[in-house]
Amino acid sequence: MSEKIIQFIGVSKAYDKTLAVEDVNFYVNKGEFITFLGPSGCGKTTTLRMIAGFEMPTSGQILLDGKDITNVPPHKRPINTVFQRYALFPHLSVYDNIAFGLKLKKIKVVLENKNGERIEKYEKLTRGEIKEKVTNALKIVDLEGFEDRNITTLSGGQQQRIAIARAIVNEPEILLLDEPLGALDLKMRKEMQLELKEMHRKLGITFIYVTHDQEEALTMSDTVIVMKDGMIQQIGTPMDIYNEPKNVFVADFIGESNILSGVMTDKFKVKFAGHVFDCVDDFAKNEYVDVVVRPEDIDMVEKDQGDVNGKVISSIFKGIHYEMTVIAGKNEFVIQNTDERKVGETIGLKIGPEDIHIMAKEFTINRYDGYITKKNTVVFGDGEYEADVTQLYPNSHIDEEGYLITDDGKQIDLTDADVSVEVGLKCIDIDDNVEEANAVGKIISIIYKGDHYQIIVRTENEEDYVADTEYLWNENDMVGIKIAAKDIKLSLKTEAQK
Ligand code: ADP
Repeated sequence: MSEKIIQFIGVSKAYDKTLAVEDVNFYVNKGEFITFLGPSGCGKTTTLRMIAGFEMPTSGQILLDGKDITNVPPHKRPINTVFQRYALFPHLSVYDNIAFGLKLKKIKVVLENKNGERIEKYEKLTRGEIKEKVTNALKIVDLEGFEDRNITTLSGGQQQRIAIARAIVNEPEILLLDEPLGALDLKMRKEMQLELKEMHRKLGITFIYVTHDQEEALTMSDTVIVMKDGMIQQIGTPMDIYNEPKNVFVADFIGESNILSGVMTDKFKVKFAGHVFDCVDDFAKNEYVDVVVRPEDIDMVEKDQGDVNGKVISSIFKGIHYEMTVIAGKNEFVIQNTDERKVGETIGLKIGPEDIHIMAKEFTINRYDGYITKKNTVVFGDGEYEADVTQLYPNSHIDEEGYLITDDGKQIDLTDADVSVEVGLKCIDIDDNVEEANAVGKIISIIYKGDHYQIIVRTENEEDYVADTEYLWNENDMVGIKIAAKDIKLSLKTEAQK
């Protein structure tokens, strides 16, 4: 059985207002190549820094070989880190850069004295020992004979290899690599990916890697941990993550995907793009679902011979395959195939049951806690909205003084009443006029869903608005939110809900 070298148990890390990592649980097997993958700001680096000991968790436990190391300082952990910026000493030679840590290091030696007693001593490494270790490290990074070279005469790739040599010369049990190839050009990055994998094989130690580059993660790792917003979305082999994404975020982030809205019409039957397809995932009848189909899994056949017909509206040659966009009814499919179908052609599309991946819809409605103001407006989601408060009591109306009068004539002052608010995804209007909007936030995610975009806007106080819209916005845009009064559904909170 494989041994767990690192284990995170319910680990969270907060910086002031930001929750960088939220209740993270995972383990790393000894000798594994594991990669944290996710967009910028998702908490990858913070997780890595907690493994290294540069950051302390706000809560939770970190185990090394089954022992709690949550409060063990970095230099007492058998772990070394390689950063994106090499942090080499430019005035020292290659040899001195790699030997730097070794010269300071003291090794425990156990001796026996004349009386046969065991004594522990800390000794520095001899020159010969240091030389041997440096030569070995250079061999592993494929830079034998570079000892006397000046750092400034090396290419970016070579400098990064020196940085790796400097980390492995200490013989750590775990090597942490934080976007180590981020500063290299594409060609060099690809070469180094293969070399890193080879180094991992030769060294036989555990590699924990961080990247936002999905291809890098899939090529190199035994296991990939996909993160978003400080939370783990999926842990699996590269094949698992690619072929069986757990949710729409993973599907969209890893590789290219067609993501469409569908509904289950029966056991193993899903309707999307106007057709009922057989599928292999079992969801409840009538459940609304997201359907994910990879572009390479859609077959192109003659018109009327497939499941649906569509018209090719664009075709681009991508080196190995053509990437075509096909409109079928209101839905758009991206298809990759080594055969090209010309723009304007109407073709049939066929999708096999195994190639249809079904996921529970992540968002079906926006829900907020809110309260009513003196003016009978509602405050929720970091904004103030006009709403119809008479829906809280059937057949009620508002009198001239602004009190609510119930069906049986009772007068109610709604000021400060706590309410639950629901707003449909299609009822949220995104506007670039920030001044006149009810709430303001930043676009943090955009996912194309075949015939519309699903956009998440996050306000300053971390309230999210999930909107289905046909308009494309840009990630990180600051936008305004508007919601029509008729689309704001209110219900009074019970005592228990407050
Ligand atoms: P990633 O490596 O995935 O880009 P990070 O772990 O660096 O993400 O950051 C996660 C979140 O924590 C981000 O919102 C980031 O701004 C915040 N963060 C990271 N480090 C600090 C810090 N030292 N102080 C305050 N906020 C931080």
